Amino acid sequence: MNIPFSNLPRLVIIGGGFAGVALARKMVKEDVQLILLDRHNYHTFQPLLYQVSTSSLEPDSIAYPLRKIVKRGKNTFFRMTEVTSVDPENKKVHTSIGSITYDYLVIATGARTNFFGNTNIENNAMRMKNLPQALNLRSLMLENLEQAVITPEPERRKELLSFVLAGAGPTGVELAGGIAELKLNVLPKDYPDMDFTEMEIHLIEGADRVLPPMSTRASEKATKFLKKLGVNIYTNTQVTNYENNLVTTNTDVSLRTATFIWSAGVTGAPVSGIDASSLIPRANRYKVNQFNQIEGYDTIYALGDIALMETDAYPKGHPMVAQPAIQQGNHLVKNLKRHLRGQPMIPFTYFDKGSMATIGRNKAVVDLGKFRFGGFFAWFIWMFIHLWFLVGFRNRFITFFNWTYNYINYDKAARLIVRPFKNKKENEVERV
Ligand SMILES: Cc1cc2nc3c(=O)[nH]c(=O)nc-3n(C[C@H](O)[C@H](O)[C@H](O)COP(=O)(O)OP(=O)(O)OC[C@H]3O[C@@H](n4cnc5c(N)ncnc54)[C@H](O)[C@@H]3O)c2cc1C
Repeated sequence: MNIPFSNLPRLVIIGGGFAGVALARKMVKEDVQLILLDRHNYHTFQPLLYQVSTSSLEPDSIAYPLRKIVKRGKNTFFRMTEVTSVDPENKKVHTSIGSITYDYLVIATGARTNFFGNTNIENNAMRMKNLPQALNLRSLMLENLEQAVITPEPERRKELLSFVLAGAGPTGVELAGGIAELKLNVLPKDYPDMDFTEMEIHLIEGADRVLPPMSTRASEKATKFLKKLGVNIYTNTQVTNYENNLVTTNTDVSLRTATFIWSAGVTGAPVSGIDASSLIPRANRYKVNQFNQIEGYDTIYALGDIALMETDAYPKGHPMVAQPAIQQGNHLVKNLKRHLRGQPMIPFTYFDKGSMATIGRNKAVVDLGKFRFGGFFAWFIWMFIHLWFLVGFRNRFITFFNWTYNYINYDKAARLIVRPFKNKKENEVERV
C-alpha cells in the first residue's frame, strides 16, 4: 500500500461517505497517521443523485475528491481500494491492493440496495445508490426516449415511455417528481415530434401512504403535489417481480415498462471478519455502544448507516440518513481525541434536525420538530440546506448556477448520453 512507518497511532477509516468524511476532515490535524480507504476516489452527496439521473446536474457537481480531504494533513493518506475483510485478532485490514495494520479502525461503509432476496428484481431493476448507477439510469431513460421517437408500434412505445418506481420514500418521491418535471417542461421541447401524453410515471409503495418516514401532513401534501404533476400512485401495493419488461405486484396492478427503478429499501454494507454476533442480521448493521464502538471490540468503531445504536429514543437505531452519519463522525473526533489523551469518552446523542423531500419545481415538504409545512417556502429551505451541506465551494457554486439556469429557462442542462447504459452485467459490477 506504500504507507510509511510512523510512530503515531494509526487510524484507518473505511468509507469516505458522510460519516467517514466528517471524521477524516477533523482528524487530519491530529497526532495520528490517518489512512482513508474507499472504492471510489470521491465522496458522493447521495441526496442529489436523483438530479444526476434526471439530467439537472452533472455528476461532478455532487462529488468531491477524497484526496483533497486528506491532503490537508501531514501524515494522512488516501488509497482507492475495495476493502475485502478485517482481521481484528491481528489488527489488520485486507484490501484489493494489500493489507494494512491499524491501531484504531473505523468502519463507515454505509448501506446498499436491499432487494429482499428477489433475484429477478435484483438482476433487472435500475438502482440509484451511487454515481455510476445514477448515470446508468440517466442514460437508460434518454436511450428509451430516443427509441420511442422511432418506434411505430404503440405497445412497444408505451413500454419505452413508462417509468415505474418501486418505493415512495424520499428517493422514490424526488425521482418521480424529477421525471414528471422532465415530461412537463423539458422533453416536449427536445422531442417536438413525440406525443408526451403517452408518457406515464407510476410510483408504487407497500405502505398505506407515500413518504412513510415523514409526518402524515407531509405525506398528504406530497401526494397532492405528485398527482398534480401527473404521477400515478399505488399505495398498499408491493412489487413481486420484474421480468421481460413486466412489473407484477401483490394486487391486480401490473405494468409494462422498459425502465423500472427500485428504491424500496436499503441494508447495511458490512465488511467480513467482524464477529457475526456483533451484526444485527435483520438490518445488516453493526451493533454499537454509545461511543460507536462495535460490540465486543475496543478499537473498532462503526459510524453512519452501518452502525446501529439502540437508545431509548431510537430503539431500532438512528434513521439511515445523512445527519446521524455526520453527527457520529464529528462526535468520534472528540472521543478519539479524548481517548488519545487518556480521558473517558462521552456518549453520543443524536440531534434530529428534521427531514424534507422535494417534489419537482417549487414544491417540497419539510418536517422540522413541531413545524410541518410544504410548498414554495419548503422548497426554498430544501435548496438552501442542500447547497449548504454540499462539500466544496466549487460544487455549491456550480449547483446553484445550474439550479438558477434550470429555473429561469425551464430546462435541464445535462441531457447527454455520454456513457451509454450497456447491459445488466455492468449494472451488476457496480452493485454496492
Ligand atoms: C438516492 C439517495 C438519496 C438520499 N437522500 C437523502 C436525503 O435527502 N437526506 C438524507 O439525510 N439522507 C439521504 N440519503 C441517505 C444518506 O445518503 C445516507 O444515510 C448517508 O450517505 C450515510 O452516510 P455513511 O457515511 O454512513 O455512508 P455513505 O455515505 O454511503 O458512504 C459509504 C462509503 O463507503 C464506501 N465503501 C463501502 N464499502 C466499501 C468497501 N468494502 N471498500 C471500500 N469502500 C467502501 C462507499 O464507496 C462510500 O463512499 C439518501 C441516500 C440515497 C442512496
